[in-house]
Amino acid sequence: MAKFDFDLFVIGGGSGGVRAARVTAGLGQKVGLAEGSRMGGTCVIRGCVPKKLYVYASRFVEDFELAPSFGWTLGEPRFDWRTLVAHKNAEITRLEGLYRRGAESAGVQVFSEYAGLEDAHTIRLASGATVTADKILIATGGRPQRDLMGAPGAEYCDVSDDAFDWEELPKRLIVTGGGYIALEFAHIFHAFGVDTTVIVRKPKVLRGFDEDMRDALHSSMERRGIKVLTERLLTAVDKEGDHLIACTTAGERLAADKILLAWGRTPNTGGLGLEKAGVVTAKNGRIDVDGYSRTAVENIYAIGDVTERLSLTPVAIHEAMCFVKTAFQDTPTRPDHALVPTAVFTTPEIGTVGMSEERALEHGHAIDVYKSTFRPMRTVLAGTGDRMVMKLVVEQKTDTVLGCHIFGPDAAEIVQIVAVAMKMGATKAQFDATLALHPSIAEELVTMRTKSYSKDA
Ligand code: NDP
Repeated sequence: MAKFDFDLFVIGGGSGGVRAARVTAGLGQKVGLAEGSRMGGTCVIRGCVPKKLYVYASRFVEDFELAPSFGWTLGEPRFDWRTLVAHKNAEITRLEGLYRRGAESAGVQVFSEYAGLEDAHTIRLASGATVTADKILIATGGRPQRDLMGAPGAEYCDVSDDAFDWEELPKRLIVTGGGYIALEFAHIFHAFGVDTTVIVRKPKVLRGFDEDMRDALHSSMERRGIKVLTERLLTAVDKEGDHLIACTTAGERLAADKILLAWGRTPNTGGLGLEKAGVVTAKNGRIDVDGYSRTAVENIYAIGDVTERLSLTPVAIHEAMCFVKTAFQDTPTRPDHALVPTAVFTTPEIGTVGMSEERALEHGHAIDVYKSTFRPMRTVLAGTGDRMVMKLVVEQKTDTVLGCHIFGPDAAEIVQIVAVAMKMGATKAQFDATLALHPSIAEELVTMRTKSYSKDA
């Protein structure tokens, strides 16, 4: 008789957990997976997928605005929020089904309930039953922070999970935070006609991104009519009649119908019983892992957002694949977190891979910077103020492209492919040797012949 009920038990049915479970079952191992919410996790149910659908919905506004410059006459476009929410719900239900069927058809036994640890090999399910497993993988992800950093009134505020399914669009929205979620939601709701204000504690949005990207997005938001209030914190949120009042450190009392808290996420480790098994967490609940995603307990691993390495879906999936090689294929494999491309789906969007100019200098590189700012052809006839910004950060010593940063339409699509070249160690000379595809936006990346400036660390 087998020593354990399962060779692998996965807690969490998001992108990382499902991938690990499915692939391990495909190797002939006995795999169980517990998910107390909906299969698919943050990305599918309340993150990347519904967000991108809303981004698509929001971008029709720009098409309507540009259409007359290309000779079109349109009627009055009308937007119905509830239709969008219903269609989004149908799509995520379809994807949820695919996730479940994909796992089950690979042989994974799915438990639709929450689970926690009793000891290093025992899992207690919410129903009260216990199962045992040789190896355990924790892939429970994270959730938006709901508190107001100690200030009163958090109960009146919402987080991104709520915003996807608001009954109706607010007239006035205040978003706190200047990261991915805050800025993406601000752009989405602004495009739907919501009077939107973003409050950030620093002088600029998107800390950690290349300064040129931060500046370009910041001024684009202001030009579009998204208000950005900088160097402020919320001190309280009050309810007055049917609306909310956001009090700030600048002494303002700003009225809104909804206040969206988007200032970071918290790892989902509460109630998991990690201490019973000896799994070590940081103060905020993040699970500490080594380079192979192994926790302090030899047979327990953790991947994805719960480890707060890089909270991105493709990273969680990559970590899952490395975990399977390490734990079940006798090939210890470290996840590679270098040169991960990422995008902020504002409108226009930011696509970025590799080092920002500032980071390259911090790392001691002497660099050449190639920068181009121009009006995208699509908006030229309408004469909007939109400017595209493209930037390559090149190491002087080796001519290697260290970073590529794009602000403008299709930046995400372009950067995905630039990431292939950079992963191969492409040099600026190789970019230059590549023929342009004309007319396109991306051609600018291979036609930037004159360096804008050099900097030495
Ligand atoms: P981010 O880390 O991107 O941004 C958090 C924001 O909240 C920052 O602007 C930060 O400001 C601000 N903040 C943090 N603490 C405070 C505070 N005490 N008071 C005021 N402001 C504060 O987190 P998100 O929640 O937006 O997203 C979480 C993660 O999810 C992202 O890091 C990303 O990995 C992932 N994600 C990816 C997306 C994509 O790929 N398109 C989309 C959405 C999420 P400051 O800069 O000053 O610290």
